[in-house]
Amino acid sequence: VARQLASKLKGQTIRGLRIYDYRLNNLKRAALTGSKITSVRREGKQVCVDFGENNGVLLIHLRMTGRLIWIPHRGNVESVAPFFHRFNIADSHVRIRFEFPKGVLLFVDPRRFGTANFCKELPAFKYVDPLSSNFTVETLTRLCHHRKQALKQFLLRQDLIVGIGNIYASEILFRARLNPWLSAHKLKKDQLRRLYREIRNVLNAAIKLNGTTFSDFQDSDGSSGGFGRFLKVYARDGKPCRRCRTAIVRSTTGGRSTFYCIRCQPRRG
Ligand SMILES: [Zn+2]
Repeated sequence: VARQLASKLKGQTIRGLRIYDYRLNNLKRAALTGSKITSVRREGKQVCVDFGENNGVLLIHLRMTGRLIWIPHRGNVESVAPFFHRFNIADSHVRIRFEFPKGVLLFVDPRRFGTANFCKELPAFKYVDPLSSNFTVETLTRLCHHRKQALKQFLLRQDLIVGIGNIYASEILFRARLNPWLSAHKLKKDQLRRLYREIRNVLNAAIKLNGTTFSDFQDSDGSSGGFGRFLKVYARDGKPCRRCRTAIVRSTTGGRSTFYCIRCQPRRG
């Protein structure tokens, strides 16, 4: 989403914004209006809109159902209605509307779990971004050290390694042939190397294909993510493992599902 918006928003100035959700009322309208966007990038799981040095940043977290939709102006500035139909947007799901000289950016979010915050400067995040150069096998080894948490839980810890959600955690563990309930601190060297490699592989592939559309994720152009067809275990319970044909198992802990193959990802060995 950040990658797509970058090409559309870079160099544009926010002419105005309307907020339709009282939960976002603390968003600083005055600071944002008239601000010129210098870049749009990903920061962890958030979309980070930059306004240049000392001019602050806007951090948007889409969470479950949030979408950022770009509607270019074509003639009549106010004619966004046809797009609502095309993108399957209900009026009541629009939480913020940003006006730009070249179009409108909508923050649409039916379940309203998403957040939008303006900060004077980017907060100091403690997590490691798994796609940054700071993330090495040594970093992963250090993070696993003394951590008795089950691997699946460990991968979802956004304060340690940011960006791995429930879908990708199952996919990474299957590809690394690791049991989801193995304790992080028990990983051997070769297992850590496999885990490291698959964290990078899965996230890179998913980002390249614009994510995984499960229920209703759509990118800024209204397209669905393309990673879904590469899923090997997620939501495939009862179906044959793509590697060994054993039925994929689904297990639920803390309201979250884990999918794995008991043969390819044994508890021991
Ligand atoms: Zn298998």
